[in-house]
Amino acid sequence: MAEVNLQGVVKRFGDHDVVRGIDLSIADEEFVALVGPSGCGKSTTLRMIAGLEEVSEGLITIGGRDVTDVAPKDRDIAMVFQSYALYPHMTVKENMSFGLRQQRVPRALIEERVGEAARILNIEDLLARKPKQLSGGQRQRVAMGRAIVRQPKVFLFDEPLSNLDAQLRVQMRTEIKRLRQKVRTTTVYVTHDQVEALTLADRIVVMNKGRIEQIGTPHELYHTPATDFVAGFIGSPS
Ligand code: ADP
Ligand code: MG
Repeated sequence: MAEVNLQGVVKRFGDHDVVRGIDLSIADEEFVALVGPSGCGKSTTLRMIAGLEEVSEGLITIGGRDVTDVAPKDRDIAMVFQSYALYPHMTVKENMSFGLRQQRVPRALIEERVGEAARILNIEDLLARKPKQLSGGQRQRVAMGRAIVRQPKVFLFDEPLSNLDAQLRVQMRTEIKRLRQKVRTTTVYVTHDQVEALTLADRIVVMNKGRIEQIGTPHELYHTPATDFVAGFIGSPS
């Protein structure tokens, strides 16, 4: 059964349809990249899955459950943005623990999960630091750690690496790939970077003007693009 399912999903702002009928089925443990030019509706689609935007038409299920009336905090998802919004007055450890403490997870379990995530992400030495004492790459790792400790059903990433310089972006891409071997959580990963999508995703969804142009494995999209748009977009990595 699909872990995340979108059926005829439309998003309208006023009389402007920004998402025009998306059908998408994402399997348990699958990593799907959502790509397409700026303004094509990637973030809006992700935000509807997260519950940060209401669906104008259609249906979204997560783990088989219709989430129409389910608040973001109860959707069993964790989201990582490009602006990682760490709490500046808290240490790394406090930042990573915060969500769990709000959920009243027992202290010992919080310790265990934060320790494990810190080990996976190689930030064990940073736990006592404040965000301002971290590099951009380290902050992004902490933001991912904050998502991992919650052990959600689904990770939602919105261009998590786009604020990093080119060299760091390549390094973090490798990190995420490594992370995937340890944490097999279902992931929807929005990016406008074709290389990121091609190297990380099990399947890529190419969006254009609020619609899906093609869904396929990196190999399929690269070698047999269905439209000129897909060929142009996937074929010319930045
Ligand atoms: P992407 O993430 O692919 O760059 P977005 O999903 O952010 O695209 O935006 C898709 C379109 O929807 C854009 O034209 C954007 O201006 C519009 N849009 C996004 N959010 C809102 C909003 N809250 N109100 C009105 N229009 C919006
Ligand atoms: Mg966006």
